[in-house]
Amino acid sequence: MVTWYRQAARDLPWRTTTVTPWQILMSEVMLQQTPVARVEPVWREWVVRWPVPSAMAASSPADVLRAWGTLGYPRRALRLHECAGVLAARYHDEVPAEVDLLLDLPGIGAYTARAIACFAYGQRVPVVDTNVRRVVARAVHGRAAAGNPSARDLVETEALLPRRVELATVFSAALMELGATVCTARTPDCTRCPLTSCAWVAAGRPASDIVRRGQKYDGTDRQARGRLLEVLRLAGGPVERICLDLAWTRDPGQRDRALDSLLTDGLVEQTAAGLFALAGEGDPPGEGDTAPERHIPEQR
Ligand code: SF4
Repeated sequence: MVTWYRQAARDLPWRTTTVTPWQILMSEVMLQQTPVARVEPVWREWVVRWPVPSAMAASSPADVLRAWGTLGYPRRALRLHECAGVLAARYHDEVPAEVDLLLDLPGIGAYTARAIACFAYGQRVPVVDTNVRRVVARAVHGRAAAGNPSARDLVETEALLPRRVELATVFSAALMELGATVCTARTPDCTRCPLTSCAWVAAGRPASDIVRRGQKYDGTDRQARGRLLEVLRLAGGPVERICLDLAWTRDPGQRDRALDSLLTDGLVEQTAAGLFALAGEGDPPGEGDTAPERHIPEQR
């Protein structure tokens, strides 16, 4: 696996030896739910714009949300901004190396904490994402797909790691790379697999009994949220409610629900004058703001 990885790994910018733990942290947050091809250009901009956590903390949440663009699931951007504030204030712009301390940071969960400990600090810890769970399900358990995540995932993956720390970290990266590029969910290319044995192949590739619903996006609340956020990102400041209403006309109830959820999530805020703005961009209450003329994006 380690030899295969050294020959086959994709040349990704956050894998170079000069990246900092903060840059790795940003990449891991972005990569949680967004493909590499979409993350890479944004990440390259961010490492220049926000080279250390305090630089991001000095920006407003709205700046970060705007720079997040269309990476999706924008609560990650808000949490990353909070995380930057904690790192700047509590850790003097450093990223802690201990998993327990990492888990205490805003927006850092079980996967991301261990990915940082492993890839930024070379620790022997199990790094378990969806791809790793699928490889383990197939190679070890003979199942086509992984079941629901559980605490056993960490235990099982740790048992596979080489004892030597420097090999374990490369092995963790290799497992993830294998799941991302060879042992893919729909079309595993077993002819390119470096594993010498695989329980799923040995069992004759039994079909999965897990029913997966296709993830449609068109017409969902998620799409409605994205459209409303797009209006606020492009506007550059608070807008009147009508701007949001025009951005999603196909279902007013869905639009209201989407706006409520954005307010609840803290991604959008309402000013004292009843305008809507990205987080941190609303005028302080009592300033009697008025809506400037805004560009209203056409519906797509
Ligand atoms: S042999 Fe095929 S199914 Fe098994 S781990 Fe390798 S790519 Fe996945």
